[in-house]
Amino acid sequence: MKAHDGMYIGGAWRPAAGQDTIAVVNPADEQVIGHVPAGTAQDVDDAVRAARAAFPGWAATPPTERAARIAALRDVLAARRGEIAETVTAELGSPPGLSQVVHAGVPVLVAGSYAELAATYAFEEKLGNSTVLLEPVGVVGAITPWNYPLHQIVAKVAPALAAGCTVVLKPAEDTPLVAQLFAEATEEAGLPGGVFNLVTGLGPVAGQALAEHEDVDMVSFTGSTAVGRQIGATAGAAVKRVALELGGKSANVILPGADLARAVNVGVANVMSNSGQTCSAWTRMLVDAERYEEAVALAAAAVAKYVPGERVGPLVNAKQQARVRGYIEKGVEEGARLVAGGPEAPREQGYYVRPTVFADVTPDMTVAREEIFGPVLCLLRYEDVDDALRIANDTVYGLAGAVWAADDAEAVAFARRMDTGQVDINGGRFNPLAPFGGYKLSGVGRELGPHGLAEYLQTKSLQF
Ligand code: NAD
Repeated sequence: MKAHDGMYIGGAWRPAAGQDTIAVVNPADEQVIGHVPAGTAQDVDDAVRAARAAFPGWAATPPTERAARIAALRDVLAARRGEIAETVTAELGSPPGLSQVVHAGVPVLVAGSYAELAATYAFEEKLGNSTVLLEPVGVVGAITPWNYPLHQIVAKVAPALAAGCTVVLKPAEDTPLVAQLFAEATEEAGLPGGVFNLVTGLGPVAGQALAEHEDVDMVSFTGSTAVGRQIGATAGAAVKRVALELGGKSANVILPGADLARAVNVGVANVMSNSGQTCSAWTRMLVDAERYEEAVALAAAAVAKYVPGERVGPLVNAKQQARVRGYIEKGVEEGARLVAGGPEAPREQGYYVRPTVFADVTPDMTVAREEIFGPVLCLLRYEDVDDALRIANDTVYGLAGAVWAADDAEAVAFARRMDTGQVDINGGRFNPLAPFGGYKLSGVGRELGPHGLAEYLQTKSLQF
């Protein structure tokens, strides 16, 4: 797709306030594929004004009409699926198959779920002698990361629109092209001008201006815990609503009765997908001492299928590549056993990292504690089920996880004791309606489904 050289504000592409641009680089070959404007506080202010002006009209639009616009948006995203996949492959580097199915496919599902929810959600409830109105929070500032660039946008914008909010989006600087494509899609879907606005730019400039803008009623942020803390503090000081989807270090717990080969293979696929750039990835695999070496051998065999440049793409940029290679070096230094991969770059060109498996990882090692955000799996050994639970919960994060057992009841009993927001039971499937979000430092608030819609609503109680 061709990059726009302006911002999408008030239903039109307009020139940016400043002259600066951001180069978009294809991480697979390191070539510049386009430039987008680097937004300033002035662009953010213009966009917030447009969103504020559009808010009363959109909030008063009947939910069935809002649902029809979101359904039209879903249809445009479905019709432009090929172009979306190509764009994500170009700016994120993900293999074409993954871009088609996940990066282009999941947003269609999520937009579809909100078209349906907007039409069916009870925006009013009776409680004794009260009628409770569920009203939109107002103007939403959405700040998104690059790892699932369109999904992260749709997971915020679709529920906000369903609720009756208007939005200003500041997408990640590494992946702004698919955000521009999304802005085109909102226009094609017939959203009134100002309901959705896009300002591309750098986090500490445009992102911060949006998070600090006094006429933004709510900030929804996905990204690193460090930036999330800052945004949470700013929102707290301004007494405004905030939703934070932050990092993770999730556990894949394989209990003694589980199908080991299946659990290990699905676990490896989960970590290697999207080059490991998934906040909910199960990067710590927990196996009982008796079957530990068998699991290590299975994991090493499974990861051999992930050939850089074929099944696994590069990391998003040189900085992430260096960061992940640094973690691999640290793992070796701290005494973890390297059974696949390693810190050397596997290809001369592109920001690739070797898919890596570490065994003999102990809970105190850096690779077991910090979020690596790359194709690196750690296998930890546990003595008994209580030990497994202690290790699984021994993290500042709590975003996701998996449990494998002889039957679902045993896995569920374990999952109930985990301090985390989402757990896949014996290989459970993705559900776009299930609330997604973190315990502990993984964030506050939930995305997706009816819980994700509720984030953008506030109550007004009428007593009779
Ligand atoms: P990041 O926090 O640096 O950036 C995320 C977004 O915030 C980008 O749009 C960026 O421009 C913006 N930003 C940066 N500094 C800002 C500031 N001072 N004020 C306002 N906005 C600012 O994260 P990243 O490096 O782009 O993404 C990787 C991290 O994101 C990983 O640590 C990962 O765990 C996390 N992540 C979490 C989830 C989740 O759902 N929980 C999803 C994806 C990524």
